Amino acid sequence: MAKTAVCPGSFDPVTQGHMDIIRRASSLFDNVIVVVMTNTAKQAMFTKEERVEFLKRATAGLGNVKVEYYDGLLADYTKLKGASVIVKGLRALSDFEYEFQMALTNRKINPKVETVFLTTTAEYMYLSSSLVKQVARLGGDVSDFVPECIIDDITKKVKHTNADKAASGKM
Ligand code: ADP
Repeated sequence: MAKTAVCPGSFDPVTQGHMDIIRRASSLFDNVIVVVMTNTAKQAMFTKEERVEFLKRATAGLGNVKVEYYDGLLADYTKLKGASVIVKGLRALSDFEYEFQMALTNRKINPKVETVFLTTTAEYMYLSSSLVKQVARLGGDVSDFVPECIIDDITKKVKHTNADKAASGKM
């Protein structure tokens, strides 16, 4: 039976670290669904439509990968899609406790799902969406951190946000 894996995250925005995990998942499983979710603990810079669109562009060359948005519980989504694996990336020990808790919770809700952890590639160990946003907001070059096809959108968004803040006197 074909194995479907899901790669969940907020992807705000997608980074080379995410792409590394997605590429490796796509070579391990028959089908991969990258699922964009809303992390209520974080204030998103990009809309869900933008985050999905960026991922679609970045994964266009990976034939067995598709991108969707889901607003509910990940464990329910895996049931809905008949996915048996959740793929997550681990950067450091600090990721572990939270991910461990999430994996146990997801298995409790959907006992048929296994969470598989891929260790980050060393060069992306420091990389996070928050870091990309911080560098971009301060006018830095993010070209080493994100897929090339989304760089212009990040620059535009930052200019737009800065212009809005200036207009409302918050800068
Ligand atoms: P969330 O906001 O839900 O933590 P993210 O979009 O930050 O989601 O990350 C999605 C997934 O990608 C997580 O499993 C995270 O551990 C993994 N990930 C993020 N950055 C990296 C990286 N640089 N290397 C490996 N995995 C990563």
